Amino acid sequence: MGRSGTYDGRVTEIRKRVLLAKPRGYCAGVDRAVQTVEEALKLYGPPIYVRKQIVHNKHVVSTLEAKGAIFVEENEEVPEGATVIFSAHGVAPEVYEQAKARSLKAIDATCPLVTKVHHEARRFAADDYDILLIGHEGHEEVIGTAGEAPAHVQLVDGPEGADKVTVRDPSKVVWLSQTTLSVDETMETVARLKQRLPLLQSPPSDDICYATQNRQHVVKEIAPECDVVLVVGSRNSSNSVRLVEVALDAGARAGHLVDYAHEIADEWLEGATTVGVTSGASVPDELVTQVLEHLAARGFADVSEVTTADERLIFSLPQELKRDMKAAAASRTA
Ligand code: SF4
Repeated sequence: MGRSGTYDGRVTEIRKRVLLAKPRGYCAGVDRAVQTVEEALKLYGPPIYVRKQIVHNKHVVSTLEAKGAIFVEENEEVPEGATVIFSAHGVAPEVYEQAKARSLKAIDATCPLVTKVHHEARRFAADDYDILLIGHEGHEEVIGTAGEAPAHVQLVDGPEGADKVTVRDPSKVVWLSQTTLSVDETMETVARLKQRLPLLQSPPSDDICYATQNRQHVVKEIAPECDVVLVVGSRNSSNSVRLVEVALDAGARAGHLVDYAHEIADEWLEGATTVGVTSGASVPDELVTQVLEHLAARGFADVSEVTTADERLIFSLPQELKRDMKAAAASRTA
């Protein structure tokens, strides 16, 4: 509790509190990708190679490294014939080809919701559309999606990028997007594109995934009441970074991204009575628990969870892994 003077000079206690966002943390795609590496380690034994960070979270990556996963940037760093897992962000078709050429056993942990966007890119390219892919330049997911139809895809990185687009036929253009963008900023980009391209078509269904949308929605609900919003997540996690921006746009007076509780500076909490807490889609809840403990030790022990959606989606493990798990189970019982 903090102390504050009132108009008649009495000293009253100010209740410090935490608003804890739900949904937060792991989404179905991240859960599946992390489980894929864990199950592969159990089944084939270490080392298991993983191309790129399986999900964009420092803690998850170091935990899997400790269990025997080796993270590499490219297939050529994987010994011939070894097992390689492709990350949740997806890969371009050429990456499968490279793996084949090196006789790698490839397991694809691409989130099915990213795969859906890849299918859309292929389908619209086959119909000879110009595809405007809204996303962040250099992000792995964008590289993977653009790689499905490089001759048809133009990247549009934010509303300003809309002004640079040129198309062959303005009546045959569609926009697609990265799955982890800010919903509001993407709609702003689309509106700007439509000023120049009134016949621009929208994706058949939302490309920004349910998990990204839900985490942004609940942050918008709590942000106006918060002196500061703490987002647990890594700097290279697109959806986590977006949560800080969304919190600030929605009225939080300050917002910070932290990987771990110990990164929370005491100055951030000075004078604060309400602290919002959430986490990106690649963050295990144990890291949020540590943040809550850290806050409780500084007087923020009163935690109210604010829930705006109930998530039940689960994705099954990659087929190639399930097949091997089944075969191993059958040989044990034979
Ligand atoms: S954030 Fe969305 S697209 Fe990315 S892994 Fe999670 S569910 Fe899939």
